[in-house]
Amino acid sequence: MKIKSSNYLVPDRGNNLSKSDSLLRSTPEAVDPETVGEPHSLDQARSRRSFLKLSSVALASQALQREAVAAPLRNGYHTTGFEVASSLYAWDLHDEGIESILDNLQQMAKVNSVYLVALMHYEKRPLTNPTFPHNPVRKTWQAEDSKIYWHPDLKRYKRIKPELSANDWLNQTDWLKVLVTAARKRGLKTGAELSHTLMSLEKGEGEYVDCVQRDIHGVPRKVAGRAFPLCPNSVDAREYTLALLSDLTANYDVDFVQTCMIPFMPGGADTGGCFCDSCVKAAQTHGIDLQKVKSVLLADPQSPAELQQWQKFRQNSMIHFFKIMHDGIHGIRPEIELRFNDAYEHPENYGMDLRGLTKVWDSIRNSDYSEQKGYPSMMNHKREWFAAERAAIGPDFPFIAGVAVRPKATPELIHEGVKIGLRNGAVGLSLGHYDGAEFPMLRAIKEELDAENIHVPTRLAKRRT
Ligand SMILES: [Zn+2]
Repeated sequence: MKIKSSNYLVPDRGNNLSKSDSLLRSTPEAVDPETVGEPHSLDQARSRRSFLKLSSVALASQALQREAVAAPLRNGYHTTGFEVASSLYAWDLHDEGIESILDNLQQMAKVNSVYLVALMHYEKRPLTNPTFPHNPVRKTWQAEDSKIYWHPDLKRYKRIKPELSANDWLNQTDWLKVLVTAARKRGLKTGAELSHTLMSLEKGEGEYVDCVQRDIHGVPRKVAGRAFPLCPNSVDAREYTLALLSDLTANYDVDFVQTCMIPFMPGGADTGGCFCDSCVKAAQTHGIDLQKVKSVLLADPQSPAELQQWQKFRQNSMIHFFKIMHDGIHGIRPEIELRFNDAYEHPENYGMDLRGLTKVWDSIRNSDYSEQKGYPSMMNHKREWFAAERAAIGPDFPFIAGVAVRPKATPELIHEGVKIGLRNGAVGLSLGHYDGAEFPMLRAIKEELDAENIHVPTRLAKRRT
């Protein structure tokens, strides 16, 4: 069965964007597979000192040497214990206040890590129920299209600039600063997320029309929210994404930056991305004539050699894109963690080779939210996806298990969801999402962690060197 171009997927920040009937039988099995960031002299000096300190310790122990040298320079994932993360939105902070939110999350669910959805796509909140369950100010909120909720360092941006909210009550406060300041006082781990679409529809249809993905017919497609995905092979789109991540890394005391940006538009050659001019140019550097491949696939989208060539090109493009992001932000601060928020089941559909991507990511969050379906039988979906993801990323790659704490979840389903994460070697949980969470569901997280004897340190903030 193939994806229809009109089959726009149900959007949810962090939800599973694929459809069970959408897998391309035509797509081949996944094939095994530069510092642009602006330097920050203080951080670099600090990292050199930490490297020297670690190196001297390493002399004492061969085993430690490998760990100490490898970890800060190659991998941003560090932990001092089991993580329980929660996402927050600017409107949560405005309406409920950061202190009472953190009180709730820490007391009810043992949360020791919070992150702001710092760039959010167009979506009605809360997503899965008509009204917010505990917001004292408003019943619902229509999130604007691809706006940011921090105050950007505009010097970092080149052609494409980020957009602030049009609402004064959202754009006059730096919400990431509010979150980080309060969370650090409590010793919590901190992060910031760039959600599914990084640029608004108006910009993607207008002055940056050359930066969005195109299918084989030259048409861009909405996958989540209301905007078009940026092409990872567009130099301007890449510079913009790197500037966003670099801005967050350089200017905020965050331990991780996370993204669930749409990879390639899902599908086989007949519907998937991308065949844009930037891709044609990038393909040339791989010795691929994408125009020729395209003409063959237009006639026969299943043509095996061309399909495989195109799919391999997509996978290499995603790895190259994230390598630029990873190297760029680690050049600013070596201990920053780049976390991919995986909302994309059947990664080959999206042009992703997970094993290859683990070399350029530091951790992965899987956003399966089967609990909110409300049926015990749906938990098999979570079981299968988590197991498949673990098999793809290997046994040691840091895996953070998403859990839905929203209606129609029940405490029993949440207990089950936590168990499934733990059985797949999760190093942490990540709750989706506080704005729609019912308090009994948050408490169910703590209950299950206690039942499983999981020690969750209250303070998880990284020790800074
Ligand atoms: Zn492209």
